[in-house]
Amino acid sequence: MTRTDPRRHIPRTDRLLAVADIRDATHRLGSQTVRAVIVDVQDRARRGELAPERVEATVVDELATRTAASGRRVLNATGVVIHTNLGRAPLSDAATAAVQAAAGYVDVELDLRSGARSRRGATTREALLRACRGAGDALMVNNGAAALVLATTALAAGRDVVISRGEMIEIGAGFRLTDLIASTGARLREVGTTNRTHLRDYADAIASGDVGCVLKVHPSNYRISGFTAEATIAEIAGVTSEHGVPLVADLGSGLLAADPLLPDEPDAASALAAGADLVIASGDKLLGGPQAGILLGDADLVGQLARHPLARAVRADKLALAAMEATLSGPVPPVTAYLHADPATLRARAERLAESVGAIAVGAPAVGVTVVAHDGRVGGGGAPGVPLPGWAVALPEHVAQLLRTGDPAVLPRVHDGACLIDPRCVPEADDHRLAAAMRAALAAGGEVS
Ligand SMILES: *Cc1c(COP(=O)(O)O)cnc(C)c1O
Repeated sequence: MTRTDPRRHIPRTDRLLAVADIRDATHRLGSQTVRAVIVDVQDRARRGELAPERVEATVVDELATRTAASGRRVLNATGVVIHTNLGRAPLSDAATAAVQAAAGYVDVELDLRSGARSRRGATTREALLRACRGAGDALMVNNGAAALVLATTALAAGRDVVISRGEMIEIGAGFRLTDLIASTGARLREVGTTNRTHLRDYADAIASGDVGCVLKVHPSNYRISGFTAEATIAEIAGVTSEHGVPLVADLGSGLLAADPLLPDEPDAASALAAGADLVIASGDKLLGGPQAGILLGDADLVGQLARHPLARAVRADKLALAAMEATLSGPVPPVTAYLHADPATLRARAERLAESVGAIAVGAPAVGVTVVAHDGRVGGGGAPGVPLPGWAVALPEHVAQLLRTGDPAVLPRVHDGACLIDPRCVPEADDHRLAAAMRAALAAGGEVS
């Protein structure tokens, strides 16, 4: 570094820590977080990415939007409603407020009137029972996988779990349902074939084995077509009820009641009405709530699971219980609104976004800025064949990385050489922030034709 090197002018850490705004941020964020931001901004200045005289203001700006956790908010412009890499379902404002309220001391296991201990999460249980007609009882645990482990352990450890070979699925990140079940000490009893499983396959297994439960899994992330056959829940229930064997249905996505938009997605109320004894659903897929596993069904079975020692290891935390109750009792969660978004409204928003960033030519090829028809997706392994008709702004492909690393961070869909901005899963109130991010990325990336 020479005497005239501009890097000599980068403010030192102790000087920055004495700046009033930065000192105040230390009370809010802790000194470790503040120092990490300072070091990062100083490094950028050393690398020449930032003028030394901009360091102080940049630190102040970054601290203003920081929290003590480093996860960044992302505008989801992919059109994928349940985006696994973005944390699946975004919580509703009502659920977010409930989490905030539950963050302190809260009456999660206390009856304030009597002062006596109460059943944990009783009001969330009531909300689940209101949302799912026909369930005798409900239990919420950490996630869907935990619900499956609890059910198979409590009902079938050391015994058989009967499952169709067509339903032995891998979900994502190498997670196989069958490995999970085998890890509980239950024996997998595979029946049928990949494409065809008949009622008699279940009946034979039940008649000849030591069966703890029959598991019917909805293979939400793939479909088989052609020469196929499966036994329905109602058919299997005819056999299981005769033998006193519990029938457990893992719905995967987690609708509690039927949604006409997704006719092939099973729902808890219908599965119970068809004769399932216990239904397993995920809280943060189609239900649109926090991460959770939901068990609904026969009161004796749910009670048996709730009393099992493993239940304590997979119990839901107070924040998730609060978020779930608010999701069920409050206004429609974002997931539901995004799934049912009106294509005409999406088109108008896409056109406004395109207008605010540059030239617009509806339906033209993806050069510069155009508005194109674009199907959204359910995502999260749900309803893989169902397109959600909508619209997107197409930008040059190279803009995608600038959008992801911009502020706010925007995740677009990169497809066929274009960077697609689908407004479906962006709150409308954030459209101006999205437009500003698009303008900034286009300006940084060069051309708008
Ligand atoms: C997603 C899914 C699960 C696991 O649920 P998590 O809440 O992710 O643990 C279990 N079974 C099926 C069929 C699923 O689709």
